[in-house]
Amino acid sequence: MTALLNFRSTPLPTADYARGCYIYDTQGKSYLDGSGGAMTVSLGHAVPEVIEAIQAQSERLCFSYRTQFANTPALELAEELVSLAPVGISHAFFVNSGSEASELAIRSSIQYWREREQPDKTLILGRDISYHGMTMGALSLSGHTARRGDYANLLHPLAVGPSLSRVAEGPEATDVEADRRAWSQAIESIGAEKVAALIIEPIVGAAGGALTPPSGYMRMLREVCDVYGILFIADEVITGMGRTGRWFACDHDGVTPDVITVAKGLTSGYTPLGAVLYSDTLVEAMSKGSRSAPFGHTFSGNPLSAATALAVVRYLKSHDVLDNVSARGNQLREGLQQIQARHPGLMGNVRGRGLLLGFDLFDPVRGGTPTPSLNANTVFADTCQAEGLIIYPAGIAPANNAAIISPPLTIGDADIAVLLQRLDASLQRFSLLFS
Ligand code: PLP
Repeated sequence: MTALLNFRSTPLPTADYARGCYIYDTQGKSYLDGSGGAMTVSLGHAVPEVIEAIQAQSERLCFSYRTQFANTPALELAEELVSLAPVGISHAFFVNSGSEASELAIRSSIQYWREREQPDKTLILGRDISYHGMTMGALSLSGHTARRGDYANLLHPLAVGPSLSRVAEGPEATDVEADRRAWSQAIESIGAEKVAALIIEPIVGAAGGALTPPSGYMRMLREVCDVYGILFIADEVITGMGRTGRWFACDHDGVTPDVITVAKGLTSGYTPLGAVLYSDTLVEAMSKGSRSAPFGHTFSGNPLSAATALAVVRYLKSHDVLDNVSARGNQLREGLQQIQARHPGLMGNVRGRGLLLGFDLFDPVRGGTPTPSLNANTVFADTCQAEGLIIYPAGIAPANNAAIISPPLTIGDADIAVLLQRLDASLQRFSLLFS
């Protein structure tokens, strides 16, 4: 057992170095990074432009404290993000992770209503198939049962609206108008005067395996929030920064949330960084500052991480990476559908958008979801890793049966072919568990 705490029964391989879409372990084995780690690596590994930016910034300024100095990379990054975000988003604040971004989104929503003299609006409405982070506030908003685990009695109550359909037919199976009624009922039964905000992942990641709503769903949520006078928070920690083929998933519906959270792909994982993006209305109200501001961590706006994110954003723009997401996303989807046809009963329909795709795993012998004791998602991810492919195990108990495929946004034809070939071999091997 190593000193590095890890609760897995078998030791993990040790990652040694990485190039492009591949990670190499200390034994020299290569793994195609088919999920960009945890839907994080957007540019691929060891991109010279990012490494050079990190090096240049580290020689100039690694740390300055946010209440004492502004720093140039943070100032420039905020400008970049605001210019890419939906119209109406006017400010950015930096944190260190997606969880911290969720926490700040909660605190600032409550702060907003306090400044508007409505201090009873403190509840945040979420949905039960969801994940917004491991810190206690973020976990309170998350319906990820396994991660809520033993802390359920310590968390704030999760007020839930309807979850996206997990039905194999995909996004079309979610009835937008039925969900509009369900969200409205959820708000009315609590009382809109107590609800500060509604938070959703535009595409549900870890808890669902790329559960995707039909188009118009974000617009419907925006309208519901406007009708009831509550804030709309889009958790774009996974979907933001180009993952779905637009800068933000909300762009597909032409919708501006009041608050957008981003992390993961923001720095492509080269350094830790999260951000909360705000609409002008919020900033204006919070700027009254009649109560202590909810902002700030020691490392907020860290110049090194900001410089990393700037290099990532500039690369995404200058190499037209978002166009690649749409083209390669279609190619990957078609390839996955062909693989599904080769594994009837084992692999469910492919869902998702851009290069954020997912599917469910089924028991091909007995039918339906695999027995919970199998822990299908983890076992399948381990099987893929043995075949040299990294995928992300998703879904929540009891079924735990989803997988996410989310390779770097820069992936090319040849690497998609390798990904599909290794996935096919992994499914073949995984199917033997059921015979
Ligand atoms: N929000 C979403 C949608 C996520 O998927 C995650 C992490 O997977 C988080 C928030 C939390 O981010 P982090 O792990 O960086 O704290």
